[in-house]
Amino acid sequence: MAASRGGAASVQAMKRIVLLGPPGSGKGTQAARLAADLGVPAISTGEMLRSAVAAGTPLGRTVAGIMNAGRLVDDATMADVVTARLAENDAQGGFLLDGYPRTLPQAETLGEILAEQGVELEGVVLIDVPPEVLVERALLRQRADDTAEVIRERLAVYARETAPLIGYYRDRGLLEEIDGHRTMDEVTAALLAVLRS
Ligand code: AMP
Repeated sequence: MAASRGGAASVQAMKRIVLLGPPGSGKGTQAARLAADLGVPAISTGEMLRSAVAAGTPLGRTVAGIMNAGRLVDDATMADVVTARLAENDAQGGFLLDGYPRTLPQAETLGEILAEQGVELEGVVLIDVPPEVLVERALLRQRADDTAEVIRERLAVYARETAPLIGYYRDRGLLEEIDGHRTMDEVTAALLAVLRS
């Protein structure tokens, strides 16, 4: 029997994880909470890009308009961002990716980055929330410069570009699904249970 089952299971949590979920699924909040608990960094590509925009770096200047429109930054740029971040010291023992991958080519790239490091993804957890709840939540947490149109664009981009990752990771036996239409605390508990099983 595998050592990851039975008594040792509680200390053998997954450490290389992707959190998947539509805008408004609570993914960012959950990633931060789980990271603290699992002892791995939460890596949010959205946060990284927002910092670059705020700092006015060349990357920030390239992506600002795209982000404001609710569209996706190109895969090659994202590959550079994520390759550099996953090479940092704190990510060597594991990571929780929030917001990457977002397209099938990005999923392929992530596999390649990890293979290069001699490691593999251990789990992908989808925080599932019904579409009508997402629209409601998106309007509630609307950022100052977000219009309803940008919110609709983000949801459409998720459906078109990111949702195919669900099948991609399911086919590879990596997908776990969590009901995200619950309180934040309940979702955190459910995620921890899955990641520690
Ligand atoms: P987030 O905070 O994850 O919602 O990301 C905010 C914005 O950053 C997105 O709407 C995209 O414009 C951009 N972004 C973040 N991660 C990615 C990614 N993996 N691929 C392309 N664009 C991204």
